[in-house]
Amino acid sequence: MINYNSSASLRAFLEQEGLGMRKKFGQNFLINPAVRQTLVDALDAPNGSEVWEIGPGLGAMTAILLEKGLKVKAFEIDAGFIKILKREFERENNFCLVEGDVLKTWKSRAVKREAEYLFGNLPYNIASAFLADLIEGGCLFKRMVVTVQKEVALRMTASVGSPDYSSFSVLCASAYKVKPLTVIRPSSFFPQPNVDSMAVMLENRNAPAVVPVFFPLLRALFSSRRKTIKNNLSVFCASRFGNSALSARFLQENAINSSQRAEELTPEIFLSLAKSIDNVRL
Ligand code: SAM
Repeated sequence: MINYNSSASLRAFLEQEGLGMRKKFGQNFLINPAVRQTLVDALDAPNGSEVWEIGPGLGAMTAILLEKGLKVKAFEIDAGFIKILKREFERENNFCLVEGDVLKTWKSRAVKREAEYLFGNLPYNIASAFLADLIEGGCLFKRMVVTVQKEVALRMTASVGSPDYSSFSVLCASAYKVKPLTVIRPSSFFPQPNVDSMAVMLENRNAPAVVPVFFPLLRALFSSRRKTIKNNLSVFCASRFGNSALSARFLQENAINSSQRAEELTPEIFLSLAKSIDNVRL
């Protein structure tokens, strides 16, 4: 049995296995058992349901998910950790390992709706890109509980008008109700990261699917934050329709004041603006 709760034991275990921790894969193990349990409890997935676990590492969380009777599909990139995961969990019927970069592997797994829940102490270097990729790809879960850098969590949970409100906040809000769960201090990890982390829960809003233009529109409107919505929208309309003047019509249809900036608009306004643009047939 691996002792997941102490830096010294994990260091000794890794040494004995001839393995090391790799910064480029954002490897920080959550060594605080109370926090691990809190996060799995927050996922609140019923017995027998399927969960994607992103970055299982040596399997500290995987073990708890399996104990809860969940079917775990674990996505791991590190060949050394993969070897350990196979050894620890290969006899478990409810465990399935997907080897490789989750940014590349998730799509082939999502063709058929497989999992309702997603869980993970996400590798910090890919956390926001991965979540954005899932949402843009229409791969939505019933509930997700993810641990990310606090700075990323603040962007995910920010509401309109706050300094952290960004295109990523709107993207998350377009599909999920996003709730901060708990701040996790560096001392809860091995090795200790330089910054605080935060666990976040995303509950599916079961909203109608967004129109595809929503995603490039969002990027375009937040691309130059100092510019007004009118300026950014004009550039977007020029490239999409060859007609920058159309922006005035969209602003009017959505009761947006031309001097407003993207960070002043609620997710609902972005969604309705995207619908107006989608309706145009030239
Ligand atoms: N779940 C473990 C825990 O909480 O103790 C480890 C979490 S650690 C922050 C992130 C994990 O994601 C590592 O196991 C790392 O190897 C893995 N990882 C990093 N980049 C990945 C990628 N692109 N695809 C799949 N796994 C990745």
